[in-house]
Amino acid sequence: MNFYSLNKKSPPVNFREATIQGQAPDKGLYFPDEIHLFSKSFFHELPDYSREEIAFQVIAPYVGECIPENDLRGIVADTIRFDFPLVKITDQIYSLELYHGPTLAFKDVGARFMSRCLGYFFREEKKKITVLVATSGDTGGAVADGFHGVDGVDVIILYPSGKVSSVQEQQLTGLGGGNIHALEVKGSFDDCQSLVKQAFADIALREKIFLTSANSINVARWLPQQFYYFFAWQQWPEKSNPPIISVPSGNFGNICAGLLARQSGLPFHHFIAACNANRVVPDFLQSRVYEPMPAIHTLSNAMDVGNPSNFVRILELFHHQFKDLSGTLSSYSISDELTRQTIGKYYSSCNYLADPHGAVAIAALEKWFSNHPGQQGIILETAHPVKFYDSVEPIIGKKVPIPPSINSLMARKKNSIPMDVSYNKLKEYLLDRNQ
Ligand SMILES: *Cc1c(COP(=O)(O)O)cnc(C)c1O
Repeated sequence: MNFYSLNKKSPPVNFREATIQGQAPDKGLYFPDEIHLFSKSFFHELPDYSREEIAFQVIAPYVGECIPENDLRGIVADTIRFDFPLVKITDQIYSLELYHGPTLAFKDVGARFMSRCLGYFFREEKKKITVLVATSGDTGGAVADGFHGVDGVDVIILYPSGKVSSVQEQQLTGLGGGNIHALEVKGSFDDCQSLVKQAFADIALREKIFLTSANSINVARWLPQQFYYFFAWQQWPEKSNPPIISVPSGNFGNICAGLLARQSGLPFHHFIAACNANRVVPDFLQSRVYEPMPAIHTLSNAMDVGNPSNFVRILELFHHQFKDLSGTLSSYSISDELTRQTIGKYYSSCNYLADPHGAVAIAALEKWFSNHPGQQGIILETAHPVKFYDSVEPIIGKKVPIPPSINSLMARKKNSIPMDVSYNKLKEYLLDRNQ
């Protein structure tokens, strides 16, 4: 299988090239030139398959010949080395918990899969590959953990000093040393992002260093997110009655992977893109006008995106047919006020503690149910509530305990390199490392 650029001005490439390049030279996102179709018998047998088998079957058609079967099976098994339980909240609502990975957020799966693919592609190269990312919090932790100890790959993460939560900073810097390097930039997230952009645009630098990004648009981060939806179906108790799927959405990568899984035959019929005050997509589905806007800061800050980069992939999946798209996808914008109420309500009445992102998904599903009574749904719970303890604890009036699985990370020493907002300093650092 090949991947073409959605801008249609760069040649198609295979999975290896698409993963290494991230974005096509014409700045388009890569998109598979074929959507794998699973047989009826696959879905029939799915409940009996292991998770590793399902994940392998789902990703193999997209990887093609680029990684041999045995190696790919190893990469997949190592990627999903934790649980993805479907938990019943009420008779109508189930939660697929995607936060049991090492950094307590769903981005672990994409970051782990991508890092292991790059490690495979570069294990025999003389030259190292350098992954350069700017983070406002969550992505950096998943990337640091996902790439930690992967041979042949050096990772440089820029984050704004004093502007990430303490759990996030610990995840970013606790793995420093080795192949992970956290640069603590004395500026904002936008400063970090602009330094990274300058490095990617620096042709002289890129002749000396093999740079790539671990951006969420990378196909190796996007495609493995399909696993969640197959795992949800595997655990769904009533196969004759498929649920509605509600996905907390920011850049729309996760939900786009779900819609791809649906087109592969997965029997989920309707999806809800649950958004916070950043309402470009809910507005588009009402008005058919797509109008990017500056991001608004909210409680569910991993979804504070004013121009979701994966939305073009969703349009492509539906061949730009608005009717087909709006028949399958609904979207709601949920206020911070309603997000807080939802966290409180489900904690006190169902003893279920949602994080702000999961709460947005629950509130959006409730809006759908108000016009479609009697249906059932699954929300994707994308982060552990402890990651957002500063907003969750005042709502429930209690401390959220840190899961023992991350105690060892929390105990590590902070290891970061202070840096001014100066492209020359960053360039010097990158060149020194690659002497
Ligand atoms: C990144 C993130 C999202 C949004 O996912 P997209 O694929 O960008 O739509 C939702 N919740 C959490 C906790 C995240 O970290």
